[in-house]
Amino acid sequence: MSFAATLALARAEGRTLLNEVEAKDLLREAGVSVTNTTLARSAAEAVTQAEAAGYPVVLKVVSADISHKSDAGGVKLNLKDAGDVRAAYDAIVASCTKHVPGARITGVAVQHMAPAGTEVIVGMTTDPQFGPVMMFGLGGIMVEILKDVSFRLVPLTERDAGQMISEIKGKPVLDGVRGQPPSDIAALRRTILQVSQFVEAHPEVRELDLNPIFAYPDGAIAVDARIVISEA
Ligand code: ADP
Ligand code: MG
Repeated sequence: MSFAATLALARAEGRTLLNEVEAKDLLREAGVSVTNTTLARSAAEAVTQAEAAGYPVVLKVVSADISHKSDAGGVKLNLKDAGDVRAAYDAIVASCTKHVPGARITGVAVQHMAPAGTEVIVGMTTDPQFGPVMMFGLGGIMVEILKDVSFRLVPLTERDAGQMISEIKGKPVLDGVRGQPPSDIAALRRTILQVSQFVEAHPEVRELDLNPIFAYPDGAIAVDARIVISEA
């Protein structure tokens, strides 16, 4: 679906939160590397899609009422066969219904389980005064507790994107420390620029999070994507 069609559909449904499948489809179209992710509306559909994606797979809740999926028990990793997928589907629906009573659950997102990498975050928030602002940081506690992040106003130059990466205190982690492999900095710089261009082209995007992106010695891939659009 095009950006315009996705926007129209979300607005018709009274949503400002695009689901993970919609967000990844738009970002893939914009050149960003994301895991192939499909929407399953039943356990049987999830099994068929898991077989197409290749085991092990990950299942995640798709609900306009749930934006932090793990908090609601809505993420199941490393599912190895059809039995795992069926059980995970039921467990996700049960847990999310319990955590968020009345949540509208559309189904689950099915995707291949990506190999572990160094976790980084690329995000965008809209500042009331300055407009879209890009954010970059290392994933997990580095962002949540240490607030080790860098910011730049959109639009970004290639130089800005490079500086965002080199500015963070945790940069040595990306260079490779203590036996950890180095991360593909050029791929991360490209991702930051592509996201900047995407939000510049689509002012209806109010918030965007790729959290996390797995960075590898060769390449990087977003395993989660979240997009919030403005109200109609
Ligand atoms: P949320 O942020 O809404 O809780 P995520 O999609 O980020 O949900 O999933 C939670 C965690 O599960 C991620 O931080 C990541 O570590 C892991 N994860 C998610 N999707 C994948 C995937 N396709 N491959 C490997 N790990 C994944
Ligand atoms: Mg996430």
